[in-house]
Amino acid sequence: MHPGIPLGTLKVIMSSPPEVDSDRPVGTDPDEGSAPGASIESGDSALRAMTNDGAFRVVVVRTTDTCQELLRVQHATGTTGQRLAELATGAILVRETMAPDYRLQALLRLADKRTRLVADSYPDGGTRGLISHPDPTRELSIEGGLLEIVRTLYSGDLHRGVVSVPEGGGMSQALMTYLQGSEQVASMLSVACVLEGERVVAAGGYLVQLLPEVGRGPLAIMAERLRDFEDIAPLLIQMNAAPGPLLDELLYGMPFTRLTESPLSWKCRCNTVRVMSSLSTLSKTDLTELVEAGRNIELSCDFCGHNYNVSPSQLVGLLEQS
Ligand SMILES: [Zn+2]
Repeated sequence: MHPGIPLGTLKVIMSSPPEVDSDRPVGTDPDEGSAPGASIESGDSALRAMTNDGAFRVVVVRTTDTCQELLRVQHATGTTGQRLAELATGAILVRETMAPDYRLQALLRLADKRTRLVADSYPDGGTRGLISHPDPTRELSIEGGLLEIVRTLYSGDLHRGVVSVPEGGGMSQALMTYLQGSEQVASMLSVACVLEGERVVAAGGYLVQLLPEVGRGPLAIMAERLRDFEDIAPLLIQMNAAPGPLLDELLYGMPFTRLTESPLSWKCRCNTVRVMSSLSTLSKTDLTELVEAGRNIELSCDFCGHNYNVSPSQLVGLLEQS
């Protein structure tokens, strides 16, 4: 056991003995059970629709506020911030399309073998993400990277699919390649995040899915229609990424029915209970070593940066249970 050892999504940093009054034991945290900054004020949502000919299912999302908070907590700017925001938006679209009631994770491993972007989307509309990168403000290219999507199936098993980011392609192409190759879903999809310095001006996207029982005829017509919206960024700016107006524009002149709309936001899932249970997976030897060191352990959540302090006496509690 040494400083900086990865522990799931948490990394352990040994800290000096804290001042007495800052030593608030984990168990007495008034926010226990809820994530720190659990959710943010958000005007984001996902809107679903179906074309009246029964050929297409459409999901349109606004993720401006979700991405703003995601980029803020991850200190991600520039192209790195944009790609992370696009991955998160894509994760939401794919979850909404494939399995809205289950969690979905999207991972992008870049060609440099060191950089990894993660988006983690939940059925309650909460999404978080992280970037492991030597410098999150550096220019970033996803070409040559691998996109992996892991989601829970209705059976409870995991579905895992990996595709390469197409040559010359961006995040939208990578996500479409995944849907076609790994899920056999013919789709048209575009995600984008428009930045002005560190401010997210607009973020969002759409996914138009050709339903499997329909022939491929309508696809060509839809593809022609959506040609103007392959890059959704200009429309996102124009419409403040509002899903209703975006949907009207995408399906202009085509009869469709609006279905449900649900809220989206940035949300971390870490809490003290999860921190303690991740520590309880350590071996008895490691735990004993930590207790004997007699210092507080500081754990920080890679997704939101929140710090948790665990005192030696709490570790003794874990040892007694093990
Ligand atoms: Zn967290």
